[in-house]
Amino acid sequence: MLETKVCIIGAGPAGATTALQLAYMGIPCLVVDKSVFPRDKVCGDGLSGKVLTLLSRIDKGIAERLQQFVFKEDSWGITFVAANRMGINIPYKPNYAKLPGEPRGFVCKRIHFDNFLVDELKRCPQVQLIEGKAITKYELLPDGYLLTDATGSIQIKTQLVIAANGAHSGFTKEVANIHMEPAHYVAGIRAYYSGISGMHPDNLVELHFLKNVLPGYFWIFPLPNGEANVGIGMLSKVARRRKVNLKQLLLDTVQHDEILKERFKDATLLGSIDGYGLPLGSKKRRLSGERYMLVGDAGFLIDPFTGEGIGNAMYTARMAAEQAAACIAADNYTAAAMMAYDENVYRVLGPELKMSTKLQKLIRYPWLFNMLMRMSARNKELQELMSCMFHEVDVRKKLVKPQFYLRLLLGR
Ligand SMILES: Cc1cc2nc3c(=O)[nH]c(=O)nc-3n(C[C@H](O)[C@H](O)[C@H](O)COP(=O)(O)OP(=O)(O)OC[C@H]3O[C@@H](n4cnc5c(N)ncnc54)[C@H](O)[C@@H]3O)c2cc1C
Repeated sequence: MLETKVCIIGAGPAGATTALQLAYMGIPCLVVDKSVFPRDKVCGDGLSGKVLTLLSRIDKGIAERLQQFVFKEDSWGITFVAANRMGINIPYKPNYAKLPGEPRGFVCKRIHFDNFLVDELKRCPQVQLIEGKAITKYELLPDGYLLTDATGSIQIKTQLVIAANGAHSGFTKEVANIHMEPAHYVAGIRAYYSGISGMHPDNLVELHFLKNVLPGYFWIFPLPNGEANVGIGMLSKVARRRKVNLKQLLLDTVQHDEILKERFKDATLLGSIDGYGLPLGSKKRRLSGERYMLVGDAGFLIDPFTGEGIGNAMYTARMAAEQAAACIAADNYTAAAMMAYDENVYRVLGPELKMSTKLQKLIRYPWLFNMLMRMSARNKELQELMSCMFHEVDVRKKLVKPQFYLRLLLGR
């Protein structure tokens, strides 16, 4: 039997970041993960500027070590390809100079990135990490939670539970009563390839809004050593209705698509094609209750338009750690006290999630997206606007207003 004030279930980006922030505040915690690190996680491996921003807020040293990390590939922007196959390169920052430490984004296999974070945890004496134990039983007692692993080999008595155990979190289902809804969930698959031709020299990540994948997309994200993460994400509701076999769709796309087949002609599939769910933040949910908070994918917080979940997982992790500190200081773990966490999450991420939900609906209309691409190719101002879309909520607000398209059409 172990005793702690804070137990974090899961040591992925959400759990590890929560523990790092707690350690920074001098609060000990126990982190338990069902896997032994390094472990893989199915993902596009794309990391936005949010990740470095957040890590440097916790501890500049961690952000600097990540900047030096050899397993990542710096990326300088995004290539959008519309359904009409018109492509446009949008840098994260206009007129970038490719200075070291400058890139707003990078791509890093999760087996390496998550292990980087876990290594950082191992540097913190306040963090006790238990690997290879899956927590499957959660019992609320008058003075805390009693957590038990699947084999009954460990029991943890804790004042507060932070559930960071990802998209398939049993805690989220059983305790928070949040369930998968196909309209707010994406089915995703990814494969690793080497030898794809035609990659951009500045490692732009590619989003192909192919007609048969909308309202999702096919992606190619460049990795070190000439490898790339290739995948497809599609709204589960649509995938079910169309009875899509995503793995087959990926293989068909790289083998038969008019444009992509040329680029994949000499490419090699490395390993298997694997899938996992993306719980979207397109619906507001209760993220906490008596003695618990949900962070990252366990709280269904992935951006519904970009599919970005790591940044949001890390942002909510830091907020949960701050809330945990407040609960400990006040010795108050009631559902009412915990509500401050929900308010904080939706104050910070809510506007962005709302805008992305609207954008996700918009891209169901390929003609609209085609038009945006055609116009952007000729219009520098519009290109710059699109490059800000990924990190500025005000820009997304513009993109979901009908007047915006009307003005574009009228050329004003
Ligand atoms: C196909 C696909 C592509 C994606 N592409 C991107 C992308 O390019 N960029 C991006 O930002 N996001 C992407 N995402 C989303 C991203 O992968 C998630 O948002 C992110 O992993 C969330 O981190 P997390 O820490 O909340 O959960 P996870 O990373 O899932 O970590 C959860 C941890 O909990 C552990 N765990 C699970 N159950 C238990 C248990 N019972 N007991 C103990 N431990 C447990 C697991 O072993 C794991 O280590 C993608 C997702 C998918 C499926």
